[in-house]
Amino acid sequence: MVWQIDLKGKTVVVTGGNRGIGLAISEQVAQAGAHVAIIYRSSQDAPEVAKKIGEKYGVHCEAYQADVADQATITELFKKIYFDVGPIGGVVCNAGINYKKDALEYTKEDFDGHFGPNVWGVFTCAQAAQKLWKEHDYRNGRIVFVSSVSGTIANKGVKQAFYNPTKAAVNSLAQTLAMEWAEQGTLVNVLAPGYVLTDMNASLRDDKVEREKIAADTMLNRVSEPHEQAGTVVFLLSDYASYITGTQMIVDGGLHHW
Ligand code: NDP
Repeated sequence: MVWQIDLKGKTVVVTGGNRGIGLAISEQVAQAGAHVAIIYRSSQDAPEVAKKIGEKYGVHCEAYQADVADQATITELFKKIYFDVGPIGGVVCNAGINYKKDALEYTKEDFDGHFGPNVWGVFTCAQAAQKLWKEHDYRNGRIVFVSSVSGTIANKGVKQAFYNPTKAAVNSLAQTLAMEWAEQGTLVNVLAPGYVLTDMNASLRDDKVEREKIAADTMLNRVSEPHEQAGTVVFLLSDYASYITGTQMIVDGGLHHW
């Protein structure tokens, strides 16, 4: 048997798919043959990034500017993508933000700043897709939330009093929606990355000493590259994952497990 993932004929929406982990996901999804709709917040080069992916893998790849926390815009955008790019088969809710502060300094604005995109913004996209799947009686919808290991275990020395709870909420949301939407055939799962070298973790990328300190907490003795996260998402979107729902795939190089 030749084991090959084929996503041809599907359109996959990847929020934050223009850089970091999301970019690696967009590329690997396109490589597997799916059309890709990237939702980004403000990066000027996102349309060009999408164009290059489309040309490289011979698929339709388009970038759409929208704030995932704007429910009305997201609902309309999913309808537009459905008709312009093709029937949506999968959604990867990857967009997120993280800024660190001492817990004593956090304000309500910081709370909304984290929970808006990281939880509400994940929900708006999942809901917009599920509405379309119900309307079109599509019975093979796939949703992947990009959470974090820090949704389960607080990481030492990192001040993330709001970020970590957003990821715990996303884990719970995945399980709850998986239960509620199973009847329609929709599968909802979570990718929980450990440390990944992206803009979100710029200090890790730029500071070798810090990077090696973090790496020492993993069994593999290194942090992850974005492409090492993306394969799990492609698998969860594929037919090989047809009996997986409501669960977390932890991709952390063995962080905290020893
Ligand atoms: P980056 O900071 O590199 O990229 C974030 C992406 O999200 C960008 O594409 C950004 O768009 C988009 N985005 C942010 N807010 C919004 C919004 N309101 N609406 C639409 N798009 C938005 O992040 P990473 O690649 O590092 O992280 C991706 C996901 O993985 C996040 O959910 C993060 O929490 C999670 N994660 C990351 C880890 C890491 O070590 N890096 C570890 C564990 C989990 P734009 O470019 O336009 O700003």
